[in-house]
Amino acid sequence: MFFKNKQKIEWVRGEKTPVNKFLSAVGDTCGITEQVVFARRQKSVNLNDTIWSICNEYILKNMQSGNTRNIRALYYQMERILESEGKKSNKTTQKRLYYDLLEYKKSGCSIVIITCTDDCCDACKKLDGKEYNIDEAIQKQPLPPENCTCPRCCCTY
Ligand SMILES: [Zn+2]
Repeated sequence: MFFKNKQKIEWVRGEKTPVNKFLSAVGDTCGITEQVVFARRQKSVNLNDTIWSICNEYILKNMQSGNTRNIRALYYQMERILESEGKKSNKTTQKRLYYDLLEYKKSGCSIVIITCTDDCCDACKKLDGKEYNIDEAIQKQPLPPENCTCPRCCCTY
């Protein structure tokens, strides 16, 4: 296959282009199609900004319908964009984890336990294994901790 310009290369089917990765992660569940990306792409300066604005729009849509699973998946995509640009993503991570907590509460879970990985920073490791009542966790949102220095915090409840 031959493409005349770079923009089209983002759409090569079956290849791991950023657009394809984005669509395979959230396309089906959130109803985001190639057409949605393409329509937005032409008005926007770069691909990350395009995907970022789509995420924001679909987060709002899913807030209206109360689909916490989609919201967290979209925030996760935004974290990956920030990470790819070398920016801190902790604020976005906190939002994603907040919707995880709401999802747990919805499914009847009453206690959450913080789990870190070996790669986590010291601030996160201090919280490893800590238990929270689900309502307390929703209120305090202890993850990521304020002094977290992880490039992208991967602690979970
Ligand atoms: Zn950390």
